[in-house]
Amino acid sequence: MDRCRRVFVVVGAMIAISALAPHADAASWQNGPPDGTRWESGQVVVLTHIPNGYARDLRAAVGDWDASDVVDLRIVKGSASASARNACDFVVGDVVVCVSNGSSDDQNYAGWTETERDDNGYATAVRIWLNASVIKQSSHGVRRSLACHELGHAIGLVHRDGDSCMNADGWTVHPDGFDYDTLDALYAGTYGPSM
Ligand SMILES: [Zn+2]
Repeated sequence: MDRCRRVFVVVGAMIAISALAPHADAASWQNGPPDGTRWESGQVVVLTHIPNGYARDLRAAVGDWDASDVVDLRIVKGSASASARNACDFVVGDVVVCVSNGSSDDQNYAGWTETERDDNGYATAVRIWLNASVIKQSSHGVRRSLACHELGHAIGLVHRDGDSCMNADGWTVHPDGFDYDTLDALYAGTYGPSM
C-alpha cells in the first residue's frame, strides 16, 4: 500500500499558479517543492466525519499544525449520519475529513487528499480520505502520522525528506521546524526556505 495520493480538482477557470522560485535544496523534496497552493486566509475549519475512536489522534495532529503562526485550524465535528459520512461532500472553506470503506483503487493508499482550488491557486475546499483498514488496525502513532501528513497537504505542504510527518517514507508523527518555516514562506507568497 502506498502512503498517500494528492489530487487537485480545479474549480472555475484556468488555473494559474504563479511560478515562484523555490529556495530550498531540491533534494529535500521527494516530488518537487510546494506548488504554491494555499488557503487565501489561514483560518481553516477541519470538519470531521470520523469515528469517535479516531478523534483523539486527529485532534492531536490538528494541534500540531495549529501551532504554526500562519494557519489557524479549528475542528468542527461533522455529521454522525452514515450517508453524510459516506458522501463526504466538499464544503467551501473547510477541510473535510472522512474515512473510506470503499473498494476502489483508492484503497491502495493509506490516505489521500483532494484539493479544490480557484484560478488564483488558492485552496477553496479540501477533502481528506483516511483508509479505514489503516486507521482501524494501526497504532495511535501511525494514525496521528497519517492525519498529520494529509492535513499537511491540506494546507499546502508536499512530500519531503527528513524527520517530519510530511516524509512519505515511514510514519513520523510530527511536523518539524522546516515544515513551519515552509508554511511561513508559503503563506507569505513564496515557498522553499533554505534548509
Ligand atoms: Zn502525501
